[in-house]
Amino acid sequence: MWRVIGQEKVLPILQNNISKHSLPHAILISGPPHVGKMTLAVDIARAINCERDDPPCGECEACLKIENGKHSDVQVISLISQNNDSEEKTRTEISIDDIRQIQHMVSLPPFEGKRKVFIIEGAEVMSMEAANCLLKTLEEPVTQSVFILLTTNIGLIPETIASRCQEISLHPIAATIIENTLLSVYDIDKENASLISRLSSGCFGWAISAVQEEKYLEKYYETRNKAIEITTAGLHERFVYAATLSTQFARERAIVYDVLDIWLNVWRDVLLLKIGLTDSVSNIDLSQQLEQWAECMDISDIRCSIQAIQETRIKLNLNANSRLALEVMMLDIPVIIGDIVKR
Ligand SMILES: [Zn+2]
Repeated sequence: MWRVIGQEKVLPILQNNISKHSLPHAILISGPPHVGKMTLAVDIARAINCERDDPPCGECEACLKIENGKHSDVQVISLISQNNDSEEKTRTEISIDDIRQIQHMVSLPPFEGKRKVFIIEGAEVMSMEAANCLLKTLEEPVTQSVFILLTTNIGLIPETIASRCQEISLHPIAATIIENTLLSVYDIDKENASLISRLSSGCFGWAISAVQEEKYLEKYYETRNKAIEITTAGLHERFVYAATLSTQFARERAIVYDVLDIWLNVWRDVLLLKIGLTDSVSNIDLSQQLEQWAECMDISDIRCSIQAIQETRIKLNLNANSRLALEVMMLDIPVIIGDIVKR
């Protein structure tokens, strides 16, 4: 059973490829954070190595081992690594050593499964050397191995690599699908399921974390409140916040990317309210405030804010000076005080 939901266009193609043994040796899955890229990649690994007739069955030894990260032929290369004390550390890039390790494993036959699967998360932050090394591996397809690259930004994947992969784009899914799935799987009331499904912006992984992890929503609200506070604050406070984020970025990039995603989400809602698409708003619990912002702003102000956040994300990905990039973003987002907009 495939665990990915709401991706009807993608699954039949994959199922067909797997049943005909014609799955490409390299797949590039793109989509926003928490949309289900890793879930799909693990599902593909299960489907390839499943021991039963309707893969992935989710019940055979191979499926269970892969799901629990215990299958010796399925490797996940991620920016998050654990040390001996099980403490998580976030790296800033996929290194050439990671890819060399893969190259070594590719040269060996599968140990217990049908094909080896290498899942590379954060493929957009591969070092140049790592990308060149991976390219060489992809140019010499080994039938017993499948590479699955995951990215939130396909534009940052070198064309030479992207052109050797089958591309799969995962898109946010309808809030009603998420709400109904939450209600059928988890012990959650309708009001909460409805709110979480809207806040998730169509990313089911986000909704699951919000239901399962106690502090997840709390952190979300905290960051969102800060976004609201900073939008109504002057330049001094904005620059202090930019400095704080920059320091955080040096330690843990993912946190700052999450902050920017939340900012983007808020501004997208302002845009939706401005053009009257209220049913698509994510932060429904903030509708009243965001509607006031939408009323006092031109559409060009809102677009400018969205662009500023998107550009900052790209600059940070490209290792620009993080403090400067964040300060420029703070300058580009208009200051809103009451119903007055200062540009
Ligand atoms: Zn199975």
